[in-house]
Amino acid sequence: MTSESASFLAAEVLQTFNKIFMVSSSRHYWFFMLCYLCIALAVYLHVEKKQYGSFTSYLFPAEIYKHASARTDLKIWLMLILVLKLGIFPFIFSIISSAMGVLETVTDFLAPQWQVPRTSKTPTFFDRALYTIIFTLCTDFGFFIIHYCQHKISWLWAFHKVHHSAEVLTPFTANRHHPVDYIMHATVAFSIQGLGYFAFTRFYGTDIDRLLIIQTSAIHFFYYMSANCRHSHIWLGFGPRISCLFISPAMHQIHHSTASQHYDKNFGYVLSIWDWIFKTRLIALEKESLTVGLRANERRYTGFFDMMWRPFADSLYGFKSIGRWRRRPD
Ligand SMILES: [Zn+2]
Ligand SMILES: [Zn+2]
Repeated sequence: MTSESASFLAAEVLQTFNKIFMVSSSRHYWFFMLCYLCIALAVYLHVEKKQYGSFTSYLFPAEIYKHASARTDLKIWLMLILVLKLGIFPFIFSIISSAMGVLETVTDFLAPQWQVPRTSKTPTFFDRALYTIIFTLCTDFGFFIIHYCQHKISWLWAFHKVHHSAEVLTPFTANRHHPVDYIMHATVAFSIQGLGYFAFTRFYGTDIDRLLIIQTSAIHFFYYMSANCRHSHIWLGFGPRISCLFISPAMHQIHHSTASQHYDKNFGYVLSIWDWIFKTRLIALEKESLTVGLRANERRYTGFFDMMWRPFADSLYGFKSIGRWRRRPD
């Protein structure tokens, strides 16, 4: 390798790590990782100190971080970074914004009375707060509904199953997604978010931005503060009242559980109201000892390449016949 290509590679790696750990819209932003550390310390001091010797052995249990599943999380994460580098996300965004452009033109033509009333008024705090709530509701419902379908429809489950094949949970399991699964998530959630923006600007009449905390939507900023615990061994419940509105990390751990009573529960991302509406909410009240991974009836992957290629074959098999569309629980 020449010194030029080595320095190019080093710059690329540095830029990628910068985006992951130094940009506040990333769940692994240094501040959110620091929050993870603080939550772990608080849980250790108040609950787990007797069971674990030192804080380090509580934070990095060998049976989790030396597990093959944790290494697979990292492999998939690196591959996803490459996929994102190929410009897949900008491509999705350009398709969605083109679709929104078409929707605007058609609406302007068919219902001119709904045209965006452009005004020069400056959005107030209330306007921005309202938009932030609508933005969160739209994005979160998008994430919920695609996640729900990924569990109920066999040819979508074929790709989502990769996420659930994790046999231990680490903060990097959050990135353990088949690229198709990731792209579906983003496309549905951002399309519904775009529709929310479309409807809001028609009603409100001017460009508006969300309430931000360091460049991140205020509600998502608070969500990210505990989000790294969702995929971890750290049990963090929010109590019965807060859990009626927000999904706690413990509730997502239940989503990964192989126990029958936890099957297809807690699909939500930030809010738990969708699970309440769809009767899939299970609030975690007391710490449970969970086994995570695929249920006994699911075929295991033989390796990384099997994990990447078999979902296409499984998905095609399920898609071909409408009778096979419904995912069978057992
Ligand atoms: Zn799932
Ligand atoms: Zn998960």
